[in-house]
Amino acid sequence: MEPSLEIIASLCFEKLKSLPKTGKPLDNEWTVLAGIVEHNRQTATSKVVSLGCGTKCIGQDKQCPKGYILNDSHAETIARRAFLRYLYHELNKDADSIFEWDHELVCYKLKQHYEYHFLCTQTPCGDACIEMKLETDDDEVKAKRLRISNNEEVIYTGAKRVNKSGPLSDEMEQTPGELRTKPGRGKRTLSMSCSDKLARWNVLGVQGALIDSLIHEPIYFTSLNFCSSVASVANIERAIFKRWQHKEFRRHFYKPQKPLIRISPKFQFDYAQQPKRQQPSPNGLSWSHLPDRLRPYEISVNGKRQGVTKKKVDTPVAALAISKYKLFVCFLELLGSQKEIRKRFDVLIEDLPKLTYATCKQLAKKYQEAWQQLKYEYFEQWTRKPSKLLEFKWIVQQTNCLRS
Ligand SMILES: [Zn+2]
Repeated sequence: MEPSLEIIASLCFEKLKSLPKTGKPLDNEWTVLAGIVEHNRQTATSKVVSLGCGTKCIGQDKQCPKGYILNDSHAETIARRAFLRYLYHELNKDADSIFEWDHELVCYKLKQHYEYHFLCTQTPCGDACIEMKLETDDDEVKAKRLRISNNEEVIYTGAKRVNKSGPLSDEMEQTPGELRTKPGRGKRTLSMSCSDKLARWNVLGVQGALIDSLIHEPIYFTSLNFCSSVASVANIERAIFKRWQHKEFRRHFYKPQKPLIRISPKFQFDYAQQPKRQQPSPNGLSWSHLPDRLRPYEISVNGKRQGVTKKKVDTPVAALAISKYKLFVCFLELLGSQKEIRKRFDVLIEDLPKLTYATCKQLAKKYQEAWQQLKYEYFEQWTRKPSKLLEFKWIVQQTNCLRS
């Protein structure tokens, strides 16, 4: 049986509690927590494999062409990146991994008995926060809406509508079903809302292009769990899959999922927004299930490692382990030790430092084809990252990311 929301939430809350106090919100600060729980159907046991805390997102003018800076520090995105870090570590393991090597397919396979559950202490920003404006005679629904509008944490998304064909008269209009970018200080962000990202992972998988090129099938969330008194299952379902239900999308490996969506107001997150906690914490926190020597817990500020001196801001020293750059290095280190995959990609070991991040993402052919079709069918308004932000390479003298 799959773990209940109660188990998933308490595992994530306990794990966060067990981490050092440094970086956690002060008494007047709030944050959002997201986590990913791995369930082993064979042993009927569950454990947290990644956590993320954060509420910030940087504008497009602050983005880093070397991949050192994390653009999007919303909890959901951090937890997902911390999960990728966990996956790389498992891919690199010699024994007791969640993956097994398939000689015929020349790739890794996730062992059948593992599944993943997602948790967040808030409704994901963007579409899931938008209430359908349906006329209703249902007193219960009316009463609930009244409660919502009287509640301090009234749901309203600060995420902005996106439109490729020109500016919108009201980019904040609360129309259901639209793609949105995250709010952020200063220049507009290029980061899509968490609702849109979850919707994308729900079709392409949560593993992203690089890991997709190494594994047989995408990894999906079996359930999405929210600890919130104001979230609505109907709105989250619309945001994650129902807004495209009338559209066809069929590929061999990638299929739109219908994950179990659960909400409960019962589990109060200690650092949730409340009268005594009115300031969003400036920090991002990430934790991955890894050996201590790899430093599983990290604190970030403005998408960089906390405490990095001004002089080193533009160097790999500033890069978080969950940054694009460092996850890319994990990918290349893995290729470095995997002759058969290099052969499949037709890449020589000495050429690894010559490959750009963009080139490697294109190695995931079936993933990229599916994404192209998905953009056409579902996500036409998805923002494009300027290509100059994806041209970085591996600076080899850096310390190892996978085995330090
Ligand atoms: Zn968000």
